[in-house]
Amino acid sequence: MTQPLPDPITSAGNTEVKRLRSLHERKYRRQTGWFLAEGLRTCTEAVELGWRLHRLAFLDGRGGDRMVRPLLAALERDGGRALPMTESLLSRISGKDNPQMVLGAFEQRWQNPDRTSPDTDRCWIALDRVRDPGNLGTIMRTADATGARGIILIGDCTDPYSVEAVRASMGAVFNVELVQMSEADFLKLAAGWPGQIVGTALPASRDYRKVDYAGPLILLMGNEQAGLTPALMKACTQLVRMPMMGRSDSLNLAVATGITLYEALRQQHPPEDG
Ligand code: SAM
Repeated sequence: MTQPLPDPITSAGNTEVKRLRSLHERKYRRQTGWFLAEGLRTCTEAVELGWRLHRLAFLDGRGGDRMVRPLLAALERDGGRALPMTESLLSRISGKDNPQMVLGAFEQRWQNPDRTSPDTDRCWIALDRVRDPGNLGTIMRTADATGARGIILIGDCTDPYSVEAVRASMGAVFNVELVQMSEADFLKLAAGWPGQIVGTALPASRDYRKVDYAGPLILLMGNEQAGLTPALMKACTQLVRMPMMGRSDSLNLAVATGITLYEALRQQHPPEDG
């Protein structure tokens, strides 16, 4: 950063503090197109991946740190603002007692639904009306870990850019493509899909280990309460079930997604020693 740093912010009434705090609400994330990411490591990875940084709130006095300087340089390149401030204001913005030393406000990225192209090596995960931000964040993290291409959010879903979802994704939000579409548009995409669409559903009779996950693959997961709609189930080339041995009637959505993704990964990239 070649420009001198501004004076530290000390008042909760400061407009920039209020603006960053408002990013906890979907309405303001929609209005601005921004979202909050916390932590030095996450913000650094985002910047390295080319995400646009609008604001960097950080603990006053840390602007010269070796790890903070590249973030300030990215901020200058992106025309953003550096916001040194007190720990209590960082805490106020993050909503946590022990806030991270840096908080970034980044520009959201949404993939054009028309570019949800089939990919032989990297699968898409489609989520029907996912409601829980923790589930969505965990699914983004698992999608990234298994090399999935991205997540298709069908219908009325929780926001992947909410503070809770971003936190649960542990930075993976910056490495998976995100697409939003209606159920009708997904059904159109499914009708022309050249590969497998594997849906997971409790009424299915096929064991999830007995199907072929060769790409181009869409893995389709149901809503936490209602499961998949009948139309979505019909659009699948295969419907699978994970065995339930105890008294619970279903698995948590993120757990079910993880199990299925790892089976797909095992088939597509078998371990070398057999
Ligand atoms: N009551 C819901 C139902 O009837 O489908 C339970 C939904 S479950 C919490 C959320 C999603 O995780 C399901 O729609 C399905 O995609 C997946 N899932 C969870 N457990 C599963 C299982 N044992 N077999 C197949 N899919 C499962």
